[in-house]
Amino acid sequence: MMVIGITGGIGSGKSTVSGMFRELGARVIDADKVAQEVMAPFEPGWWAVYEYFGQGIVCPETSEIDRARLGSLVFGDPLFLRKLNSLVHPLILRRIEELLQQLRDQGTKVAVLDAPLLIETGLHRRVDVVVVVWVERDIQIARLKSRQPQMAMSEIVQRINSQMSLEEKKKYADFVIDNNQSLEKTRQQVELIFQTIVKKGRGFERIE
Ligand code: ATP
Repeated sequence: MMVIGITGGIGSGKSTVSGMFRELGARVIDADKVAQEVMAPFEPGWWAVYEYFGQGIVCPETSEIDRARLGSLVFGDPLFLRKLNSLVHPLILRRIEELLQQLRDQGTKVAVLDAPLLIETGLHRRVDVVVVVWVERDIQIARLKSRQPQMAMSEIVQRINSQMSLEEKKKYADFVIDNNQSLEKTRQQVELIFQTIVKKGRGFERIE
């Protein structure tokens, strides 16, 4: 099985690009969804966060972790962000490994791992190909604003600044997708990468 790791910045177009790979026949694992599963009430990530941040981090009605509160805590303080990461990343990585193994067992030829923190967590070393979805900062900000108009501009900028820069991520890329333009232009790049990978990969001849 060939595993394509897709990464980029917040709102740079990772989900959009992963969806395009899915349309071409790849199976997609969304690391954010895995994180949500691991953090669901009474799952191991939930307990880790509860024990470190205290019961104030949990909504009393639903037992869910208050994501807005956790988000503003960790994006406002790099120490909290590091602590949260050290608690939950190992749990998420283990679950991703399990899901990849399931796909392998099912005979999957091409898997996509959509992971915002692919490089920061070292997962880029566990995939065959690293794809960075790149977008200009101004366009990134504008797309985030139109997706979540209620989010303050200062918060958008703070979140972008708290991440590894896209310029830095590009250094790890086997392929960079320029997602500044139309979806159609992005789709063309995805198709080209898919074809290149399928051509190069041994044993992938059956994928059209
Ligand atoms: P997040 O890190 O928040 O999960 P993401 O990297 O997965 O975000 P997307 O959700 O794919 O990014 O894209 C962010 C927003 O920009 C979405 O509203 C999406 O529809 C839009 N978008 C993505 N690519 C393009 C494009 N080429 N043209 C116009 N809009 C786009």
